[in-house]
Amino acid sequence: MTPFTYTRANSIDEALRAASGDGACKFIAGGTNLLDLMKENVEQPTHLIDVTRLPLKSIEETQDGGLMLGALTTNSQVAHDPRVQERYPLLASAISAGASPQLRNAATTGGNLLQRTRCFYFYDTAVACNKRKPGSGCGAIGGKNRIHAILGASEQCIATHPSDMCVALAALRATIQVVGPDGKRTIAFADFHRLPQDRPHVDTTLQPGELITAVTLPAERFATHYTYLKLRDRLSFSFALVSVAAALQIEDEIIVQARLALGGVAHKPWRELAAEKLLIGQVPNRQAFGAVAEHILSGAQGQGDNDFKIELARRAILRALAQAAAATPQSQIDKRIK
Ligand SMILES: Cc1cc2nc3c(=O)[nH]c(=O)nc-3n(C[C@H](O)[C@H](O)[C@H](O)COP(=O)(O)OP(=O)(O)OC[C@H]3O[C@@H](n4cnc5c(N)ncnc54)[C@H](O)[C@@H]3O)c2cc1C
Ligand code: SF4
Repeated sequence: MTPFTYTRANSIDEALRAASGDGACKFIAGGTNLLDLMKENVEQPTHLIDVTRLPLKSIEETQDGGLMLGALTTNSQVAHDPRVQERYPLLASAISAGASPQLRNAATTGGNLLQRTRCFYFYDTAVACNKRKPGSGCGAIGGKNRIHAILGASEQCIATHPSDMCVALAALRATIQVVGPDGKRTIAFADFHRLPQDRPHVDTTLQPGELITAVTLPAERFATHYTYLKLRDRLSFSFALVSVAAALQIEDEIIVQARLALGGVAHKPWRELAAEKLLIGQVPNRQAFGAVAEHILSGAQGQGDNDFKIELARRAILRALAQAAAATPQSQIDKRIK
C-alpha cells in the first residue's frame, strides 16, 4: 500500500477544506471498497479524509413527503428503517440483496454510490485496464467477460456497475445532494453515473472535491407492486449477474405508472423511459412484459462469455414484472426464485 496522510474531519467545512489541498485526496466512509482498492494498489490516494464524524447519519422527512437519507447512513440503517420498509420496500429489498450483514453494517449510502466495478482486470494491476490506467487497453474485451456488460458498453470498457442499492434508487428517481468548492447542487440519479464511452476512468459526474451529503427519495412510494429480483452465482453473497428493480402502480387492473431499472448489465443502473412508457395503459400480463423486455434488449450485445446474460435478462424482466404485478416480491431472506 502506498503511504498516505490522514485527517479526521469534524465538520463539512473541514472536510471540504482538507479536500482542496494538494495531492490525491479521497474521502473515506465505511472503507469497505476503498481500503480493498488501496491494498491492491488500484487506488493510491496520498491523503485520506475520514468523514465518519460528519452529521450526515440521519434519515429525515422532506417537505414534499419524501425521505432524505444522510450520506453516512449505513446500508443496514436504511434497509431496517421502518419508514423505508413501509414506503420504499423496493429500496430496503435491494440493499438487503447486497453484500453480507457485516458489510451492510459498515457500508454507507454515499460510499455505495461510488463503489467501483468488480471487473477482475480492474483489480489486477498486471493487466491492461482503461478504467484503472487510461489508454492502456481493456483485458476484458476478448478475455474472460462472463460478468460484463451487454448494454451501453464502449470499445474502451465493458465493465458493469456493481451496486444493488443504486438500481432501486434509479427506479425510484432519487436525487443526490452534494456540496463542493462551488457550493451545493442536486444531481438527478440518472445523471450521476456515466456510460464508459472514451473516458471509462470517470465513473460519475461528481466533481473533484465534492462531498455527497444525502440521497433524497421523492414522495411516490410504489409500496405494493414492486420487486427487486437479483440473479447471482450463489445465494449467500454475490454481485448480480442480472438484477431488476420493478415497481408498478395498478388501478382497475391497468398499469398507470411503471418503473424499471436493471443492474449487472451496464456501466450504470440501466433505465429506459421509453420501456416504462410501453407499460402504461396496459393490462399487466406476459404479452405486455414481453414487449418491454424486447424493447430493452433489442440493442443488447454479448462479449462471448456473457452472451447468456441477454436471455437471462429477458427472463428476469418478465419474472420481475410478474412478481411486481402479483405483489409477490423476491424475499431477500430466502433468495430462491419462486
Ligand atoms: C465482499 C464484498 C461483497 C459485496 N457485495 C455487494 C453486493 O452484492 N451488492 C452491492 O451493492 N455491494 C456489495 N459490496 C459493496 C459494498 O456495498 C460497498 O463496498 C459499500 O457500499 C461502499 O461503502 P463504504 O461506505 O464502505 O465506502 P468507502 O469504501 O468508504 O468509499 C467508497 C468510495 O466512495 C467515496 N466516498 C465515500 N463516502 C463519500 C461521500 N459522502 N462523498 C463523496 N465520496 C464518498 C470514497 O472516497 C471512495 O471512493 C460488497 C463489498 C464487499 C467487500
Ligand atoms: S472492462 Fe473496463 S474495468 Fe474491465 S478491464 Fe476493461 S477497461 Fe478495465
